Amino acid sequence: MKLRNIFLLFSTILVLALIVICYPQIYFFNDKVHYKNFYVYYDKKIPQEIFPILDQVEERLKKSQLYDQKVNFKIFLRSDVSNYNILPYQFNNNVAGWVIPFIKNVFLYKADIKNNIAYNPIGHQRPLVSLLSHELTHVLIESKWSLSRVPWLIENSNRSKMGLLWKEEGYAEYISGGTGYSFEEGMRYLNNSNSPFPFYSEYFKCYLAVRYLIENKGMKIEDVFLRKDINLEDILNEHINT
Ligand SMILES: [Zn+2]
Repeated sequence: MKLRNIFLLFSTILVLALIVICYPQIYFFNDKVHYKNFYVYYDKKIPQEIFPILDQVEERLKKSQLYDQKVNFKIFLRSDVSNYNILPYQFNNNVAGWVIPFIKNVFLYKADIKNNIAYNPIGHQRPLVSLLSHELTHVLIESKWSLSRVPWLIENSNRSKMGLLWKEEGYAEYISGGTGYSFEEGMRYLNNSNSPFPFYSEYFKCYLAVRYLIENKGMKIEDVFLRKDINLEDILNEHINT
């Protein structure tokens, strides 16, 4: 094959892959709603309940110092998890929700808009408002720092013992209104392997630490993210001991 043809072939594959990853709305989804700065796609007709849900999500996001009304949110939802599994880098069957880095498309594993419920892959439920607010907080973080955020990914002090980016996860939980469990329940699970799902107590620790830094220590979230001299376990110990 001539060099020119090889180049053309690879360019075509690359363009197709980018379309697959960036624009799932072209080949998936039955219904779409554009409301405020939200673009929501669903695998069936979107019920009216989406509007109060988005209003509540907006209300939570606006509490964040990172809120920027110029940021649009692309949200891809499905009610049936057997849908849309053909192509890679779309719905993730291992997590409740995820944001594709840089592109910032948001996918939730399973969403029941009518009843305001989101499900993770093992069936644990959480209010859709809460999970959406969590994922969209990640979008706000990415939108604010974009590429300059990349070094955080390898910075040791930003990782929890189980490898979570504790500041980002904690802040997403903080803005979303908590982990979906009461404070008392969270404390009960803090060091308990019987927590409702893997990583549950890890997320709760992240939430607790970030909340402490913001509410008790008066730190701005920008400073929390940019400082390298704070780590999760130290902050938790300080919080629990005080
Ligand atoms: Zn998250």
